[in-house]
Amino acid sequence: MNRHGTIWIVQILAKCPKCDAGLPLRGADAPSAIKCGRCGHEIALTITEPVRTDRGVDRCPVCNGADFYTRKDFDPKVGLTVVVIGAVISGTFYWFGKDLVAYAVLASAALVDLVVYGRLKDLTVCYRCHSEFRGAYARTAPAFDLHTADVLEVEYERKIGRR
Ligand SMILES: [Zn+2]
Ligand SMILES: [Zn+2]
Repeated sequence: MNRHGTIWIVQILAKCPKCDAGLPLRGADAPSAIKCGRCGHEIALTITEPVRTDRGVDRCPVCNGADFYTRKDFDPKVGLTVVVIGAVISGTFYWFGKDLVAYAVLASAALVDLVVYGRLKDLTVCYRCHSEFRGAYARTAPAFDLHTADVLEVEYERKIGRR
């Protein structure tokens, strides 16, 4: 449970080390191993307690790495839906000649957009295997750093025999 009293579940997009396919998982009931749906590769998963209970992402279940970055989750569908709903509502008010209300609705739609993107839409990404994490946990990982990415990706690809 988080501080709002809601039970959140971390959504994980595990990346297959062999073929890079994205395999969706839930942190709370993830199995100890999954099979890649695309290439059949068996992936062992080690889900730590913070990941399982949505308190933070400390270790990557796929590659065991502990280096992550936070980035904005560009989900064009969410942004677009908010804008469309806002436009429809403000259009309705506009039809009745209530300009001010229309602008207020547009402004609040933009605000909702900002809040959605600013908080819940941040995702955590593993530097090594690029697995993605979404949940209500506090984002502690720093922003993307190209140098760190270069170093860790090479290290990981050597480890799994891709280089
Ligand atoms: Zn695969
Ligand atoms: Zn990883």
